[in-house]
Amino acid sequence: MAAVHPPDGFFMIKFDILGIGEPLMELSEVSRAGERLFLPGFGGDTSNATIAAARQGAKAAYFAALGDDAFGRDFLALWQREGVDSAHSRILPGERTGIYFISHGPDGHEFSYFRAGSAASLPGPDDLPVGLVPSSRILHISGISQAISTKACDLVFKAIAEARAAGGIVSYDTNLRLRLWPLDRARATIHAAVAQSDICLPGLDDAQKLTGKTTAEDICDFYLGLGPEIVALTLGKSGTLVAIPGRRELIPAFPVEAVDATGAGDAFDGAFLAEWLRNGHDPFAAARYANAAAALSTLGYGAVEPIPHRARVEEFIASRA
Ligand code: ADP
Repeated sequence: MAAVHPPDGFFMIKFDILGIGEPLMELSEVSRAGERLFLPGFGGDTSNATIAAARQGAKAAYFAALGDDAFGRDFLALWQREGVDSAHSRILPGERTGIYFISHGPDGHEFSYFRAGSAASLPGPDDLPVGLVPSSRILHISGISQAISTKACDLVFKAIAEARAAGGIVSYDTNLRLRLWPLDRARATIHAAVAQSDICLPGLDDAQKLTGKTTAEDICDFYLGLGPEIVALTLGKSGTLVAIPGRRELIPAFPVEAVDATGAGDAFDGAFLAEWLRNGHDPFAAARYANAAAALSTLGYGAVEPIPHRARVEEFIASRA
């Protein structure tokens, strides 16, 4: 694995975790007194994960372009409240922030996206701020960060190259969205990026489609074989299978009465990375901590609001010991 910062070069380390990707406004259906209402919330996988890391005490930053609209301004205010540095995130004049609706139909949750051409999909590699990636210990990106446009895909590859050149850690969540790109292109791109990553954070359903493998063990072996030194494969309420070369361990989930598991994987990612940095790079202990944070995040609605802070996670783990 690449050495952890600080590198010999030029850039001072300012952040533990830098997320790059697409923030999305969420509008979630609720029924009140026979009326159908849509309540606003915040979403976007890497933004959620970055906020989760910040709530665990990590110094976090996020880079994205935002729409010239109320939602874009809402995101800047959110990151500021959460202590996520967004000095490099920009509102693009005349452009739009992506949104999605969650409706409740007979088959459960239905997601409707309005994100094509969003502000976040517009920046390309030349728009990556100079020095931002090398100033962070961990770069966290995902399949969605790359799926939203060709330019965004290239920007992520450039960010990965910069992180590696600076001796930083690259963390990649495979997050497969087949509405954004076909499976063959997704697989080629995601696996090329994972091959250049240190930490791979797939979810079981996505990983089965991407790898063609069925068992969690085979999936972990496949991803370790691509190059990362840590694979943490999340298995919903079955927990997380953590693998490093020569060792694999199932870290059980914390049983809870989950009401909404949307964003549990993102909460897991941010908590895992923050805790892994804090605990001296033990991925098994970090996964236990992150399982607790992710379980707590399923107890409320929305992707961001129910993400717990460190004190709550520690209290919860102690209560289950
Ligand atoms: P994704 O959202 O990426 O599909 P998962 O559903 O695998 O991710 O969930 C990520 C993590 O969240 C799991 O590894 C587990 O720790 C936790 N989790 C998810 N669902 C539950 C649940 N119903 N009860 C307890 N923990 C859960």
